[in-house]
Amino acid sequence: MKLRAVRGMNDILPDEIRRWHRVESAFRRVAELYGYEEVRTPLIEDTSLFVRQIGETTDVVEKEMYSFERHGDRLTVRPEGTAGAARAFVEHGTFAKEPITRWYYLGPMFRGERPAKGRYRQFFQCGCELYGDPGPVSDAEMIDLQVRFLRELGIRDVAVHVNSLGSGDTRARYREALLTHFSPRRDALSEDSQRRLEKNPLRILDSKDPRDHAAAEGAPTILDVLSEEDRAHFDGVKRALDALGITYVVDPKLVRGLDYYTRTLFELKATSADLGAQSTLSGGGRYDDMVEGLGGPKVPAIGFAMGIERLLVAMAEGEAPAKPKPIFIAVLTDAGLAPSLRLASALRARGALVEVDSRDARLKAKLRRADAVGARICVLAGESELERNVFAVKDLAAHAQDEIPVPGADQVLFDRWQSTEGAA
Ligand code: AMP
Repeated sequence: MKLRAVRGMNDILPDEIRRWHRVESAFRRVAELYGYEEVRTPLIEDTSLFVRQIGETTDVVEKEMYSFERHGDRLTVRPEGTAGAARAFVEHGTFAKEPITRWYYLGPMFRGERPAKGRYRQFFQCGCELYGDPGPVSDAEMIDLQVRFLRELGIRDVAVHVNSLGSGDTRARYREALLTHFSPRRDALSEDSQRRLEKNPLRILDSKDPRDHAAAEGAPTILDVLSEEDRAHFDGVKRALDALGITYVVDPKLVRGLDYYTRTLFELKATSADLGAQSTLSGGGRYDDMVEGLGGPKVPAIGFAMGIERLLVAMAEGEAPAKPKPIFIAVLTDAGLAPSLRLASALRARGALVEVDSRDARLKAKLRRADAVGARICVLAGESELERNVFAVKDLAAHAQDEIPVPGADQVLFDRWQSTEGAA
């Protein structure tokens, strides 16, 4: 039986990895411009962390988590990064060391969703978490960071959607208003939504089932019931976005699939057609209650996560940097092996890329390989040259050949390589 990668989980081969590196380094650079530092938390956490923070009635917790038992512990491979980061923030008492903490992360997440283009079971997210600033300016700055990052990647066709979910009382009032709307329409709802109706009617607004969409027609929006403080916060976010020159849409239907959000909620959507239904590049919002819920003090927080696979689709082709070209050393005789290895070692110590071809093969095969890896400089360590203590050096682009003395060859070749490849 031929083994294959698990459905919905992708191999990323070297051909593609340069585009990944470009996204990852741009993300690190932009996040650091705003004062964020990287945090790395484990891929596996206690299942209860996700159940409590993401919410029992969410799709992620009900259907998608990779959970298992080991040594008597109930564990889950992380479906997202926010809960683990907040757990670490509380566990290490970070709140007591500094009034504001800015963390970013990059890494794989796991959800057993139905695979489609832009939707996988292992996917990569990059994200930021900001603890300790109640906003609303920090909310707008977080959106600004994402827009800047996307622009760095050449992704400009983006719509910024914002909403407010309110906090405390507002949420409870909205829950009542939704119950009043949906209860008489109960039979028209999907089975999932009927089950969730009493526990969490907000989830119905986030459903992908067309029956639920129909039943949600005319439902009250959260913006109708926002408290004065929540409204002032939301107005502050909008004012700061205006000051930053960011165009946005207020989208009262925006709910998102996780329960922990309070107040500001946002999504950045690609407006070009490439991603179809999976056009949401980024999503996030405020989660002012999570740190306290994890046993810490009341510390407000806000965060976002972006799917790297979707960024790669939305990025223009040709955004990948070129693969660097090596100096190619073709070993042609046994006697040539030691000087070739010494040369390779000296060149690498200087920082040049080197490929040594010591296969038992004809010169023609080696030159074909040199060509395939795009080498311009090809060093031939053959018998007649080594008797005279020189290397033959071919310039494969200029179709020229010369000889250079073995002593000092590394300096000469490094200079040549740098003037072509290294400088690029
Ligand atoms: P979420 O963690 O659900 O708020 O999602 C944030 C972002 O992660 C989304 O906007 C997507 O870009 C990405 N994402 C979420 N789920 C998946 C998935 N199954 N496959 C690929 N990307 C995903």
